Amino acid sequence: MRAAASLLPSGPSLGTDYESRMLRTVSPTRWSQPHWRILCYHTVPDSLTDVFRAQLTAFRDMGFCFVDLDQGLKLCQGQGFTRPTMTVTFDDAYLTTYTNALPVLEELGIKGFHYLIVDYVNKGRTYRAENPLPAMTWDNVRDWVRRGHGVGSHTFTHAYLLTCSDSDLIHECALSKQVLEEKLQVPIRHFAYPCGLHSMRTYRLIKAAGLYDSVATIRRGRMWAGHDPYKLRRDVCDPKWPLESVVRVMRLADRWYWLGCVRRCLHRHLCERRRRRLDQEHGYRI
Ligand SMILES: [Zn+2]
Repeated sequence: MRAAASLLPSGPSLGTDYESRMLRTVSPTRWSQPHWRILCYHTVPDSLTDVFRAQLTAFRDMGFCFVDLDQGLKLCQGQGFTRPTMTVTFDDAYLTTYTNALPVLEELGIKGFHYLIVDYVNKGRTYRAENPLPAMTWDNVRDWVRRGHGVGSHTFTHAYLLTCSDSDLIHECALSKQVLEEKLQVPIRHFAYPCGLHSMRTYRLIKAAGLYDSVATIRRGRMWAGHDPYKLRRDVCDPKWPLESVVRVMRLADRWYWLGCVRRCLHRHLCERRRRRLDQEHGYRI
């Protein structure tokens, strides 16, 4: 068993009780089965940058290797995963992703991926949250891309797609892609639902539009080879949360995934049994 202290970053003490609490021990745990999971961060405040570093270091200690989103998708649609694999993503274009998270990613040799709200970058601040925060500028985003990190669309205005008309939904998806490609001169092939809100309608519309190669939700859980790229799962993660809570929620999601499989198998079995019974009793099929 690994000592809890191994999850703490080396070097000088973090100094505050609050930060120490955030880094408290997680139960010794390793993900040994090959699979892929994607983390979803938003802000990384100055005061929690060390905690963010410690979280990623802890996941590496738990057995994960980090890949960028394109590598993960390639493995997912091809040969599959040979070890626990993780991708780090960010949503919304918060400035702290550039000022605080980027140096940590580079220190750890991780390529991140940022789903951007175009209008937040245009205006230099976020405006959907209760407390607007500074957003990345176009120069920040260009530097992020120049350093080898990925960008995708998160709509133009952080629109809630469930309540959008079909045409507004496509407009949000297409306009954000067009502006990002014009400003950054790179293809934009990946999209994430604002607040993770999606339905079969949004799934069908975005897939049929052919604008993107993948779409990310915030439904938690693991992914394996053959997973639908238009339903990517992501584990929302926050440096404010104690690592033990993050790991517990991820474990819980894994357990619910298997319960979901069992439920679907049971449902299929019961349907099949009912079909056979009706066949025998009435001589017709349903
Ligand atoms: Zn968002």
